[in-house]
Amino acid sequence: MNQPVMTIAGSDPSGGAGIQADLKTFTTLGVYGAAVITALTAQNTQGVFGSIVVDPAFIALQIQRVLEDIPIRFIKTGMLANAEVITTVADNLPQDTFLVCDPVMYAKSGYPLLEKEAITTLKEELISRARVLTPNYPELAELLGDVFIPENAEESGKRLFQAYPNLQALVVKGGHRSPVGNQVEDILLWREGTTIHTKKVYHPYIKTQNTHGTGCTLASAITAYLARHENLENALVKAIDYVAFLIQKTQQETYGKGHGPLPH
Ligand code: PLP
Repeated sequence: MNQPVMTIAGSDPSGGAGIQADLKTFTTLGVYGAAVITALTAQNTQGVFGSIVVDPAFIALQIQRVLEDIPIRFIKTGMLANAEVITTVADNLPQDTFLVCDPVMYAKSGYPLLEKEAITTLKEELISRARVLTPNYPELAELLGDVFIPENAEESGKRLFQAYPNLQALVVKGGHRSPVGNQVEDILLWREGTTIHTKKVYHPYIKTQNTHGTGCTLASAITAYLARHENLENALVKAIDYVAFLIQKTQQETYGKGHGPLPH
């Protein structure tokens, strides 16, 4: 039997990102998903129009009551809004949690999904516990304290491994970058003992504005494949392939007037 998984993230009522994208991904990939909501957003494919953060004590209650009933090892985090929420989540993760952390900072429209002052707390309390991290290039720069977006993701990734001894794998998402030729390049790094392996994964560049929720979907797909007992390298590659497959499918299936969701 596949293991159950949990997402701890924000709600996107338009169904493209956040908790909704996570649950769709879990279900499509055949994994049972629990979902703890950290914030409500009011958004559609055209932008985010507001957000309300759930009381941290109530976030703690959600995590505790679910986990005492359904033991879950694979947990994915997304939008965490502020430092208090991050501390609450970190304090309530069981010791043996396998944490897949999507270090969500901004929506594609530029709306902040994490207070800027909370980045230090995110690094110290959550990323320090994460086994898998899925930053895009701007998030990678932010996590390393770099002013410029990194040119060499492999070098930057290795610096993250040095800073976070618990970290086992990193996917640097190429979606924000210009395609290499007509290919999008994602860079995977994973650690086995003292060896750091790197692998570049390419997919055809598809000109579409329907990429809302791709980050949430990737991190959830990694979590789901791990719960399906895939090894780390396979989980990362299969999750990237899953997102690429959905981006290609958006050419036939489009919702909304803005950045449309992935059709799972
Ligand atoms: N809204 C919520 C609630 C999210 O958790 C996320 C996750 O990253 C997003 C929006 C961002 O989606 P996008 O980057 O596609 O705008």
